[in-house]
Amino acid sequence: MLLFKHVRTLQAFLSRRRAAGQTIGFVPTMGALHEGHLALVRQSRAENTLTVASIFVNPTQFNQADDLQAYPRLPGPDIAALTSVRCDVLFMPAVEEVYPPDHNTDLRIDLAGLDEPMEGAFRPGHFAGVAQVVDRLLTMVEPHRIYMGQKDYQQATIIRHLLRTTERATELRVHPTVREADGLAMSSRNLRLTDDHRRRAVRLYQTLRWAKDALTAGMAVADIEAEAMERLQQPGFRPEYFSIVDGITLQPVAEPAQHAIIVACLACWAGDVRLIDNLLLRTTDEAG
Ligand code: AMP
Repeated sequence: MLLFKHVRTLQAFLSRRRAAGQTIGFVPTMGALHEGHLALVRQSRAENTLTVASIFVNPTQFNQADDLQAYPRLPGPDIAALTSVRCDVLFMPAVEEVYPPDHNTDLRIDLAGLDEPMEGAFRPGHFAGVAQVVDRLLTMVEPHRIYMGQKDYQQATIIRHLLRTTERATELRVHPTVREADGLAMSSRNLRLTDDHRRRAVRLYQTLRWAKDALTAGMAVADIEAEAMERLQQPGFRPEYFSIVDGITLQPVAEPAQHAIIVACLACWAGDVRLIDNLLLRTTDEAG
């Protein structure tokens, strides 16, 4: 695997590969890699000639300084993990490389309200930072395809909107959420859970599964959301939201029959670790 720290050398390398007709798949990450990230790399390898992963803990998407500080950084194991899945290129830029002081790196793009509910309500400015860094990285890598996880459902929806409105040629590919054996969605933040919180964290996925069954059984959306918030309550746990929304617009669902795709999204604190998860409650296939 080739490691690049500077944009200019990365771009020179990639433009040679592009000119030779190779396709580029891109997997942006913040490191502390787990099987969820590696699944994206594997999918990219299957669909492109060249796979580029990036590790960059983006300061502009953290709305709390201590969260940024506490975010795990494990470059050694990350490089070993990417090598083991035969990732071709790793891009590990410094902050000044992504946001050079003499460049205008501001991205003013209307996120069409997709950034307002759920994560947007609890993490002000978070998605503006995510859109900004993805836009910067896309300018640098110019991939044919970008790979993101369903684990961050709202994020993937916003990036789909970004790609459309900025008229980029890059195609978004969303990989299903990879889970631990007990159902907990894999996350770099899981490393920071206490043993007790780790054991109890399975409740998040169980609650999503319960909500899916409840919706199928005809329970009212508002009642499911309220009961789900109660189910998420455990010693040391503090749920922030449990929202059942349209899978495309992310707007609230009142009458399920009118929506082809419905997704339940949640955020819940376990001690000082904030966890998110989601589950498709209805997809086009089922609606069809
Ligand atoms: P992060 O390093 O948390 O910014 O995640 C980088 C990419 O990996 C994002 O597109 C995430 O949605 C994706 N990802 C993180 N965890 C998972 C998971 N458990 N399953 C699938 N994709 C994931």
